[in-house]
Amino acid sequence: MKPGSMSSSERTAPPGVGAASSTSTSQPRSTSRFAATNPFGPAPITTASGIIPKYRERVAKKRSLDEYDAKRDFARTPEPKGKRPKGTHESRFVVQEHHARALHWDLRLERDGVLASWAVPKGIPPDPKKNHLAVRTEDHPLEYLDFQGDIPKGEYGGGSMHVWDRGTFETHKFDDREVMVTLHGERVQGRYVLFKTHGNQWMIHRMDPP
Ligand code: MN
Repeated sequence: MKPGSMSSSERTAPPGVGAASSTSTSQPRSTSRFAATNPFGPAPITTASGIIPKYRERVAKKRSLDEYDAKRDFARTPEPKGKRPKGTHESRFVVQEHHARALHWDLRLERDGVLASWAVPKGIPPDPKKNHLAVRTEDHPLEYLDFQGDIPKGEYGGGSMHVWDRGTFETHKFDDREVMVTLHGERVQGRYVLFKTHGNQWMIHRMDPP
């Protein structure tokens, strides 16, 4: 084939595409301009709605249950919901009356698989006008929700302990300095805020009227 004999379609082909096929006259021309020269097949789709953005989205959601929830209609499936709406998540709490060296009440709130705990020397305040001291103590295992009995004298926390109240609570806020919950116990019902003052010292304040 002489250079001057190219058809008009070969002349308009992109640079590099027509060159390979123009050297062979025995092969039939493909209807696709790229199939004959691209041995790797079609290029991957990486547009704005393509592979890369979707992958990023999946990585970002790896640790939450948003994706689990999004795929299901809980009005139609008997499966459990992954996430309950913020502010309505119910967890368990206990208040234990603890006759240790000094009498106090231990408030324990279920959080991230443990019981966040405070020792409250004057107990859970029933009156919004009187805040009580609450000393943050070490997290306790969930099994402690049901514990009552006698801790031997001389041991840590020695003395008798019994469950004074138990129930569920809603979390409105929960961080290292402030915890706001609504307690639904047998004795205590209402919204409380615990706030850190210094060190392990917190205050507990009732927000609802007595
Ligand atoms: Mn205690």
